[in-house]
Amino acid sequence: MRDITHFISGKFVTGTSGRYSDVFNPNTGEVQARVALASPEELDAAVQSALKAFPAWAATNPQRRARVMFNFKALVEKHMDELAEMLSLEHGKVLADAKGDIQRGLEVIEFACGIPHLQKGEFTEGAGPGIDVFSMRQPLGVVAGITPFNFPAMIPMWMFGVAIACGNTFILKPSERDPSVPVRLAELFLEAGGPEGVLNVVHGDKVAVDAILDHPEIKAVSFVGSSDIANYVYQRGAANGKRVQAMGGAKNHGIVMPDADLDQVVRDLVGAAYGSAGERCMALPVVVPVGAKTADGLLERLLPEVQKLKVGTSTDPEAQYGPVVTAAHRERIKFYIQMGVDEGAKLLIDGRDFQLQGYEKGFFIGPSLFDHVKPTMKSYQDEIFGPVLQMVRAETLEEAIELPSKHQYGNGVAIFTRNGNTAREFAQRVNVGMVGINVPIPVPVAYHTFGGWKRSAFGDTNQHGMEGVRFFTKIKTVTQRWPVGDVGDQSFVIPTMR
Ligand code: NAD
Repeated sequence: MRDITHFISGKFVTGTSGRYSDVFNPNTGEVQARVALASPEELDAAVQSALKAFPAWAATNPQRRARVMFNFKALVEKHMDELAEMLSLEHGKVLADAKGDIQRGLEVIEFACGIPHLQKGEFTEGAGPGIDVFSMRQPLGVVAGITPFNFPAMIPMWMFGVAIACGNTFILKPSERDPSVPVRLAELFLEAGGPEGVLNVVHGDKVAVDAILDHPEIKAVSFVGSSDIANYVYQRGAANGKRVQAMGGAKNHGIVMPDADLDQVVRDLVGAAYGSAGERCMALPVVVPVGAKTADGLLERLLPEVQKLKVGTSTDPEAQYGPVVTAAHRERIKFYIQMGVDEGAKLLIDGRDFQLQGYEKGFFIGPSLFDHVKPTMKSYQDEIFGPVLQMVRAETLEEAIELPSKHQYGNGVAIFTRNGNTAREFAQRVNVGMVGINVPIPVPVAYHTFGGWKRSAFGDTNQHGMEGVRFFTKIKTVTQRWPVGDVGDQSFVIPTMR
């Protein structure tokens, strides 16, 4: 059995806790490796390594830090095929999508290459007589990232790309379900010229997460995963005095107005709802046609497209989506489909019995489509995170704005329309963090910022873009006076700029 080890101080480190988790190949259902689960002592060893590396890395000039990022980007590009295959065989997403996962992460690395410019402070000359004021953005120290299974390349790069470029040293605790790519990325970072101890990978479960949240030397924690755990991480990390950003689950709605181009909507919707087997926090699992005519026109086009979706192994170039990540996750998806049926929604396409010939033990599930889903149903309120599209019919734009606005999650939302006023009003009023206008998956580009609202994010700052730079730095403001001659009388009054 292959062992997946930690990566600390630039070396592969065998786990010593005696605890492991199985890593499956979701195509075949076989256990292909086991990953070590760290004890608090092993986590502490990584923190000590990152602490040791911090002073020199923080003192490295930003252009040199950026050069390491440039080298890293080139190396990841060189190893793209190898990384994509590794990712696809642990996660189950198809190869082209695995490359997209890596590429979206690389786009944050490209952003981080601009760190000499991004980390500049501000300066005011002559704020008072002989007084100048300037500010600088300093790194925090040792910081940590805890990441989910569904983007094992992109989300670690969102976090460590920006944090390390800012001069921090980093502990990454990736998902134990697909841990190989994060370790390979850390190895490539070392090859790119990143000093030992600047990027460490520690595998684990709740034990390692709690050790991160309680460690006094970890100054900030960036988390992405499901909402209950995000909330827990936020509460416990903040109670321990850390800076915490914790992104959670999602249930994104696609609003279809009567004037939308329905053929285009169907093309967008099928990809956004079923791509990556629906295991995306920016998937579109809810469609809201406005008006009965829109709903009927949409269904007429949607049904044949969903029926002919090709589910296959993650390495099959013809497959549109592959297996889900584990058998347990597939059972959870099936449980929610049954719940939808029991709650009275109309199941038009049932993917539960799908089997891929020759891969009967793989974690495959066919596409499912519901109509007449109601906001009171629990199967609508909860995140399913599978290839299941739910149609909720609305009569008016007002109702269509209300549905995503009142939902417990507020990650992404999309509206399909040809009317600029409708789109503008929707974007302005909807109570959701990221909005697409005729864009089904509105994941912002790397130099903007990613983050949802409500139970989709806990804490105040978003991922990447300037928000990421702010999260991973603290600001210091210096007021300086270089007096020439007499500086005036002693004063007991607060200085003002009158
Ligand atoms: P998850 O919450 O199960 O796991 C996320 C991380 O938390 C992993 O590293 C895991 O090891 C750790 N963890 C698991 N159980 C824990 C516990 N009890 N205590 C402490 N830590 C624990 O999430 P997942 O299943 O890996 O990922 C899917 C979820 O992530 C979905 O809800 C999805 O919407 C969400 N997600 C959100 C975003 C976003 O930006 N909002 C992006 C991607 C995924």
